[in-house]
Amino acid sequence: MRQPTTTRPIIDIHVHVLPPDACSNQAYVSTKQWNWPPFLLMRLRHRLKRQEAVGGNGIIRRHLARAVADMRTVDRVVALALDAVYDDVGRRDSQRTHFYVANDYVFKLAKADDRFLPGASVNPRRRDALDELDRCLELGAVLLKWLPNSQGIDPMDPSLVPFYRRMAQARLPLLCHTGPEYALTTADRKPGRLESLRLALDEGVTVIAAHGGGADILNLGRAFHTAADMLLKYANLYADTSAFTQPNRSLFLRRFLRHPELYPKLVHGSDVPLPIIPWLFLRSLPFREIVRLSHVASPIDRDCLIKQALGFPDSILRRGSELLRMDRAGP
Ligand SMILES: [Zn+2]
Repeated sequence: MRQPTTTRPIIDIHVHVLPPDACSNQAYVSTKQWNWPPFLLMRLRHRLKRQEAVGGNGIIRRHLARAVADMRTVDRVVALALDAVYDDVGRRDSQRTHFYVANDYVFKLAKADDRFLPGASVNPRRRDALDELDRCLELGAVLLKWLPNSQGIDPMDPSLVPFYRRMAQARLPLLCHTGPEYALTTADRKPGRLESLRLALDEGVTVIAAHGGGADILNLGRAFHTAADMLLKYANLYADTSAFTQPNRSLFLRRFLRHPELYPKLVHGSDVPLPIIPWLFLRSLPFREIVRLSHVASPIDRDCLIKQALGFPDSILRRGSELLRMDRAGP
């Protein structure tokens, strides 16, 4: 059942989209990216040829349209754009761009269906970065998404200060990938570190670190303590729960579950269309519950219901509506 309007809506702040024509001015997916293991697995699973994946009836688009149409628990999702890579003089670097989704595409989605909220992406290295940021603010962006590892952004670069100040002034939160990147090809691992968000935090930007602040399966304990320390230290730092229902990050979910003092710093997100797998929690949930969850029609709902069943409180599921810049996008 949908929540009555007096309750804050449940917003999934982390959903990836791909336009129907993924090789247009709206989007680009390189051959290297299509052959990268997570994408390759998806293609093998659905027996896809590249053109079938991205054509007018592309499976990715249908999958997402159905996931949103079937939502009964989650009220709205933030559809994420992803800006290109830019070179040292601020020109778009097509050679190094492997995955690109235009801001205009997510604004179009949001305009057509109010269950979508526009999550813009502006690479601060581009020459017109501040102009594009202003344009996205004007169009109603609810957050700004960065994937520093893949976009070639160093969040600690002092030249980004004016960009951060504009974001802080507009109360536009930064959703930033943290930790190693698995789903996209990466240029560099270092910019994915949670510590590299200090400059944005010091400039007053509300920062949401994706994936709980960077679950590194090779070094889980240390990654968790770093995340916990920083979340408690910075009032304007939050972490999303995206990809927590996938094998590589489910252990991170368990860590957070054991630390209620961090619940006020968590915000719900799924990372759909990456797979949502209830079977990972066989040891924590009754078998019958796992079967029920695996039959939930929408993967966006499934992710939310798994976290609810495991014990994440309602406040985490509804925190998105407190943090996002919702004044332009409507209630
Ligand atoms: Zn993601």
